[in-house]
Amino acid sequence: MIMIDGAEGEGGGQVVRNACALSLVTGQPFRIANIRGRREKPGLMRQHVTAIEAACAIGGAACEGLTVGSSELVFRPGRVTAGTYSFAVGTAGSTGLVLQTVLMPLILADGPSRLVLEGGTHNMLAPPFEFITKSFLPVLNRMGPSVTARLVRHGFYPRGGGRIEVDIVPAPLTPIDCIDRGSSLRQSATALFASLPVAVAEREINTARTLLGWPETAFAVRELPAEQGPGNILLLEAAYEHVTEVVSGFGKLGVPAERVAKMAAGRMAGYLESAAFAGPYLADQLLLPFALAGAGSFTTVKPSQHSLTAATIIELFLGRRCAFRQLPNGVHLLEVGGTGAAS
Ligand code: AMP
Repeated sequence: MIMIDGAEGEGGGQVVRNACALSLVTGQPFRIANIRGRREKPGLMRQHVTAIEAACAIGGAACEGLTVGSSELVFRPGRVTAGTYSFAVGTAGSTGLVLQTVLMPLILADGPSRLVLEGGTHNMLAPPFEFITKSFLPVLNRMGPSVTARLVRHGFYPRGGGRIEVDIVPAPLTPIDCIDRGSSLRQSATALFASLPVAVAEREINTARTLLGWPETAFAVRELPAEQGPGNILLLEAAYEHVTEVVSGFGKLGVPAERVAKMAAGRMAGYLESAAFAGPYLADQLLLPFALAGAGSFTTVKPSQHSLTAATIIELFLGRRCAFRQLPNGVHLLEVGGTGAAS
């Protein structure tokens, strides 16, 4: 039984999600204590329970301690079965994070699967739908599988009610090397809003335009049906030949639209200035498929705590190092199976 201290490293939900995915793929049970030990409200929240329930459903797993608030969990995996599954978070909890938990096991399963996921589609502290489809899946699909996702309905915090559908055609993961982005193709910025004044979206766009200096045609506001709101997100996209970075700014009650846009534009500017292939979020999410492929490499900006923690959990289950080292041009190179010390 693999033992995990959920308060180590990043100490958030990703530790549990990655552990479930790796447990299903390797057949090794695990026990985790101090779940989300570094979060303000530690323990499992509704969305983590749904993610783990999803892992149990696709993988015939048995769990002890699977309740909201639980700080300790034992997870015993069974056999992963491809098929059609529906999971509803029941709150605005992120559908993308449920997907993160079950995607790798289903990619390595023996037949195609279809997932219907209900909950939030554009949540703070989680990958928004566009990040999944434009940033993450194109790289993953280059490794062999074919995963496509469709947004049926937006879901924002606190209302939820979103729905995504994901089709998975499995394939063994083949190692790839993602060192360069290739040449710049286009940039775009969209302020999505529902059941809020259009001025919120316009102020975000104006601020982002001033800060990024992208052409006027790159900017758009998009109003969603009022019943999908209230909600607002600013999505900044920079598409290159080999990768697309999607940076998001989440509108929040009490946070001025200018501040939302300034933070997102600042993060996008950081990515544009660097020569790295993967931004910080893409990097931590690519670690699992790259490690499962057994080899491969990508460049990224400075590794986040999420990335370093994912590397630790991966090593526990796969005995495989994911090592980061800084290159002379300032970017960090992640190599799977490398012998260098994780930075
Ligand atoms: P945790 O904080 O442990 O629950 O993990 C959050 C996960 O969501 C990590 O895999 C992050 O990479 C991902 N994530 C958080 N915010 C974003 C964002 N704005 N865009 C893309 N992915 C995100």
